[in-house]
Amino acid sequence: MGIQVYIDGAFFPKEEAKVSVFDHGFLYGDGVFEGIRVYNGRIFKLKEHLERLYESAHHILLNIPLSLEEMEQATIETVRRNKLRDAYIRIVVSRGVGDLGLDPEKCSGSGIVIIADKISLFPEELYDKGLEVITASTRQRSANIQEPRIKSLNYLNNILIKIEAAHADVMEALVLNAQGYVVEGSGCNIFIVNRNGELLTPPVYLGILEGITRNIVMEIARQEGLIVKEVPFTRHDLYISRECFLTGTAAELIPVVSIDRRSVGEGMPGAITKNLMHKFHDYARHNGVLVYEE
Ligand code: PMP
Repeated sequence: MGIQVYIDGAFFPKEEAKVSVFDHGFLYGDGVFEGIRVYNGRIFKLKEHLERLYESAHHILLNIPLSLEEMEQATIETVRRNKLRDAYIRIVVSRGVGDLGLDPEKCSGSGIVIIADKISLFPEELYDKGLEVITASTRQRSANIQEPRIKSLNYLNNILIKIEAAHADVMEALVLNAQGYVVEGSGCNIFIVNRNGELLTPPVYLGILEGITRNIVMEIARQEGLIVKEVPFTRHDLYISRECFLTGTAAELIPVVSIDRRSVGEGMPGAITKNLMHKFHDYARHNGVLVYEE
């Protein structure tokens, strides 16, 4: 049996899982989404992801017709129906079906889609070898134009960044904000280790998505005795960093070994990164909302 997709309270096989071309999620990217991992039969940080989903929806005045608890149950049920133990969940809430104008008030009510499937963002061997990345010329949109903390369906800027990476023959690109501070990747957050062995990551106010993986990695790093700082840094700090890695639900924690052709540290994943990867995976396997009875 193929995958079963949740659409507005019912389940459909993948081939029949369709939404209207008049949905404003399709016409205008008007909606919000979340990406969530399932590790070892447990949905990782489900509450945190749903809270971010509802906060994004609140900002754009999008009414989600399910309570957070109902959404939680619908998400668990989607994973259960698909009998998955290690998976990636995508929740999409769109503005719903409207006319060809922009007006969200004319839309019939939000549509909810939940997909549970496998995902592999980067080839497995790159988690050992590390990624080569570039800094993109595309800049992050500022918070007073379109707040990057909203996880909206409007990912064009991120896609432009990903295209720049492909054109440079690398798999990921980093983005700077209008002031030249490093903010994040196309779909992940960034960390560097400086010459003093401190772990640095850009603060939320610079214009990033407040990553859930980012927050957990900071927590784990502090437990490991590292000094963790949320501070602005520039391209130069990237180039002279001793270690660098990216975090995200889909990306997990992946080392970066070269940035704009400057090697990072020894040009291979560093000890701090490898330890955090190990600790993160251990934590992720044992925490989370149980999908199946044990
Ligand atoms: N930044 C952007 C732009 C993203 O799309 C993502 C993926 N959701 C992240 C960062 C990482 O966030 P998280 O760890 O919550 O997946």
